[in-house]
Amino acid sequence: MKYISTRGNTANKQFSEVLLMGLAPDGGLMLPESYPQISAETLQQWRSLSYPELAFQIMSLFATDILAEDLKSIINKTYTAETFGNPEITPVRTLKDGIKIQALSNGPTLAFKDMAMQFLGNAFEYVLAKEGKKLNIIGATSGDTGSAAEYALRGKQGVNVFMMSPEGKMSAFQRAQMFSLQDENIHNIAVKGMFDDCQDIVKALQNDAKFKETYNIGTVNSINWGRVLAQIVYYFAGYFKATRSNAEKVSFCVPSGNFGNVCAGHIARQMGLPIHRLIVATNENNVLDQFFKTGEYLPRSAEHTYVTSSPSMDISKASNFERFVFDLMDRDASEIETLWAEVGKGKGFDLHFMLDKIRNQYGFVSGKSLHADRLAVIKSVYETDGELLDPHTADGVKVARELREAGETIVCLETALAAKFADTIKEAVGNAVIPRPAGLNGLEDLPQRVQVVPNNPDVVKMIIRETLEKA
Ligand SMILES: *Cc1c(COP(=O)(O)O)cnc(C)c1O
Repeated sequence: MKYISTRGNTANKQFSEVLLMGLAPDGGLMLPESYPQISAETLQQWRSLSYPELAFQIMSLFATDILAEDLKSIINKTYTAETFGNPEITPVRTLKDGIKIQALSNGPTLAFKDMAMQFLGNAFEYVLAKEGKKLNIIGATSGDTGSAAEYALRGKQGVNVFMMSPEGKMSAFQRAQMFSLQDENIHNIAVKGMFDDCQDIVKALQNDAKFKETYNIGTVNSINWGRVLAQIVYYFAGYFKATRSNAEKVSFCVPSGNFGNVCAGHIARQMGLPIHRLIVATNENNVLDQFFKTGEYLPRSAEHTYVTSSPSMDISKASNFERFVFDLMDRDASEIETLWAEVGKGKGFDLHFMLDKIRNQYGFVSGKSLHADRLAVIKSVYETDGELLDPHTADGVKVARELREAGETIVCLETALAAKFADTIKEAVGNAVIPRPAGLNGLEDLPQRVQVVPNNPDVVKMIIRETLEKA
């Protein structure tokens, strides 16, 4: 399997090279040159596999330059009942109203990003050891991504993590989750500023080519191909749990921000998984909903992005969206160049003449959910099912209820647990007891490790330099 860039100006690459990459050198995103096609017989055989067995079957189609037994051991080490709280890894349950929920958030940081990050941590360690390389990951987080990266890379050989977060802007739970890690390779840096300031520091460091090369700087943001690949697996797993035979079709409803999660669903569908529709759910930041309704993609700047009660979806420029549009434009890289030149100028583009293809050939539809909607869903599910949904999952359920057709099976992806968002849960249902996995009781009382720094990239560079030279 070879990998190509959506912009068409990057030499073909192997899986293990793409794994350590962010953007392609031509500014595009890496994708396999074609999607493997799964036959009816294969799909039938896969139905009875365990999650790690299924993950191996799927990933080995894409990770062709990693030895089969090595890939198997990386996967077996990653998808365990210990790490994900259940031998099924992503169990599916059914709400009283018939909507199904696939649990993706029982990993160490209680959000679906663990599904991919835990794999990436083990895969990074393997590839770096094999090539005798080291990697220093820098990142900016307002919560979920940073903690998932830290829990995936803690204690791994050959990797350091330097994670910037805005001082005092994360919840007490999120701070405790990240800052209580005592592993020597994890470095928490609280910046006196906002999330955007943290992102600007990451960009400044990345744009310093000499610094980047001297200190082997890398990132693990949502455009990483390894993350998308690991996410493809749970669409297959969810499909098998939600159906009795492969003659049935299922729709997936996906709370979306960067389009990373649902992009994996798109690829699963292209591989031949019987997915009826891919339902994109947004919050108040509805750039994607607007695209799937009108064909107009008009990304917004950070100042025009609302701060909402489903904060991990507060994104107005969906970084993985280019992968889908590349397929939509029949993989014409020059079209992508043209469209993203407009995005680069702060404009966008209009593909309304493609709406029929988007809906009927690719199965995409969308909806949005606002603060009052998510509170109402949390309350109603609490009353009818006696369980608490997290605000992002509630956005998905709201949109699924709204768009469900007669007889349609919809699986909503549960992207986080309620325990992470206590304030919104209280607003929705009053003082309910919010369940928290046993291992996390008392988390906020553990000692914390964090350096507070001024909003200045040079100070962060100095910290990285000193840390690495000391080691
Ligand atoms: C990251 C995240 C999302 C959005 O996922 P994308 O892949 O960016 O579309 C939704 N919900 C939660 C809880 C998240 O952490």
